[in-house]
Amino acid sequence: MEEARRVAAAVVDPEVPVLTIDDLGVLRDVRLEGGTIVVTLTPTYSGCPAIDQMRDDVLLSLTAEGFGDVRVDFTLSPAWTTDWMSEAGKAKLEEYGIAPPTHRAGERSGPIPLSLGVQCPRCRSLRTREVSRFGSTACKSHFECLACLEPFDHFKVH
Ligand SMILES: [Zn+2]
Repeated sequence: MEEARRVAAAVVDPEVPVLTIDDLGVLRDVRLEGGTIVVTLTPTYSGCPAIDQMRDDVLLSLTAEGFGDVRVDFTLSPAWTTDWMSEAGKAKLEEYGIAPPTHRAGERSGPIPLSLGVQCPRCRSLRTREVSRFGSTACKSHFECLACLEPFDHFKVH
């Protein structure tokens, strides 16, 4: 089971290939159920198209490692939150050029916390502004830096 978990945890996010599904917190559980390996995933948001790719990649990776009987279940409750993203995952996201979630979802205080304090992943300036609620994918919003003028994606807190 350790091996099955290790293999599943190494599957990467098709949208941000530096992040594994374990970094993202999408991988919730790997267990043995009467000879079947059952992997439980929670999509980053409901209707995220990447989740089908993640499921296929989990199945392919485990099959390639010799695990014959594998099933992937989805669970939507509790809903995924950016709080589940590991610190290592956030660091990798930033290296990749995407501003990581700025705060823990449980700590949101104002009505518009998303636009506060998003740091440019290139020059670290906080003088940034949201250009569009939707970046390259629906999981991210599009920002531009007012200091170095570079556009970048920000992983939305939710
Ligand atoms: Zn900048």
